[in-house]
Amino acid sequence: MYDPKSMKAEEFINHEEILATLQYADENKDNLELIDQIIAKAKLRKGLNHREASVLLACENKEKIEELYALAKQIKIDFYGNRIVMFAPLYLSNYCVNGCVYCPYHHQNKDIPRIKLTQDQIRAEVIALQDMGHKRLAIEAGEDPVNNPIEYILESIKTIYSIQHKNGAIRRVNVNIAATTVENYRKLKEAGIGTYILFQETYHKESYEKLHPVGPKHNYAYHTEAMDRAMEGGIDDVGLGVLFGLELYRYEFAGLLMHAEHLEAVHGVGPHTISVPRIKRAADIDPTVFDNGIDDEIFAKLCALIRVCVPYTGMIISTRESQAVREKVLPLGVSQISGASRTSVGGYTEAVRPHESEQFDVSDSRTLDEVVRWLMEMGYIPSFCTACYREGRTGDRFMTLLKSGQIQNCCHPNALLTLKEYLMDYASPETRAIGEKLIAEQLPTIPNEKARAICAEHIADIANGKRDFRF
Ligand code: SAM
Repeated sequence: MYDPKSMKAEEFINHEEILATLQYADENKDNLELIDQIIAKAKLRKGLNHREASVLLACENKEKIEELYALAKQIKIDFYGNRIVMFAPLYLSNYCVNGCVYCPYHHQNKDIPRIKLTQDQIRAEVIALQDMGHKRLAIEAGEDPVNNPIEYILESIKTIYSIQHKNGAIRRVNVNIAATTVENYRKLKEAGIGTYILFQETYHKESYEKLHPVGPKHNYAYHTEAMDRAMEGGIDDVGLGVLFGLELYRYEFAGLLMHAEHLEAVHGVGPHTISVPRIKRAADIDPTVFDNGIDDEIFAKLCALIRVCVPYTGMIISTRESQAVREKVLPLGVSQISGASRTSVGGYTEAVRPHESEQFDVSDSRTLDEVVRWLMEMGYIPSFCTACYREGRTGDRFMTLLKSGQIQNCCHPNALLTLKEYLMDYASPETRAIGEKLIAEQLPTIPNEKARAICAEHIADIANGKRDFRF
């Protein structure tokens, strides 16, 4: 039985409801009257449910798809402006007891070197990341209760936050570790994490069990109900995602939206972010053996639909995607991207890529300076802001801010200030010149006069060497 308020995975991600949704979408994909009604509803910017969204995903009418893209672009501008938040992943350990068939860290892979960073090695990695200009990290680890217990993760978070090197500081640590207990989520919350990210991989239970044949991750319900436990443990920013390529994308998309509906129905707040990873080549993993790969067109359509269906949820694109694909989907609603990522354990202190312990190939291997410059050349403001978390504006409080439109007087100035810091401390002369021009153009666009004046004053302070890590 489908019940978004149920706490049971198979009731809030209900297989029969997904099948009925896909059938409804097929039956209505040419029903232009209904499609117009759905688009009209989407224009109210309050989102769409999984059934409505699935009809738009099935629709192949070129004109309507163009309308969808235009709306996604408009919502992106209205809600997120031209800001793109920057982050980098930090792999702590690739020890793993799970058997995920798409991931080279699976426990049967004896060819991959197993590495677990010591606190000193973490310090070195963090300094390397700070020296690039990063302020926000997503820590990643395999699941291994012996090698990577929660105590190790907590100690690592403490180490990361403690490092102040030159003007560098990591101000927000997001965490991507395996599903765990309420008690452990509470500990993560107490350690001051930002978002807890956990990809569902696939919402299709039968496939899920085949793709995760052994280990604790095999348990579909435990994995799918993780976000409820995280919220019970006090974490109100959670990040969803499916690994596209494993199952039929239309099934996954309906499941993803049902998951968001469930969180909203039960906890009063939807996901903070949605990631859209696609499966990539990796040591002992050939992505072509998975039959459900999606092309760039479908990928872009999914991004546009996520923007339209959950307008208040940030969207993340990693370096799994190439520069060209990132360029294509950025205007459709992406709010966060990673830059200069290393997907190996210890990768930031190694001189060359690829590394033996890499989790997957990256398609965008540019430096952070190059990514920042590229964004600015396209008119985006790369933002190193972490203020939502630091000011306690997470979860429903953040949503209220976003829904009230105040974000333009808050996020916009913070983005400019943190960009200014980046330009002063880390940018190449060429990037700095482009950035200074952009800041000068953008400052007058802050709507509130007082916010504009404070921002101008702080920019001058930063130029004069004042740093107080407020953002
Ligand atoms: N072990 C944790 C877990 O179970 O969620 C942590 C995360 S893992 C380091 C991060 C994500 O990388 C996984 O959730 C998966 O979706 C993705 N991933 C694994 N293998 C991949 C591949 N070959 N290509 C692209 N993404 C992959």
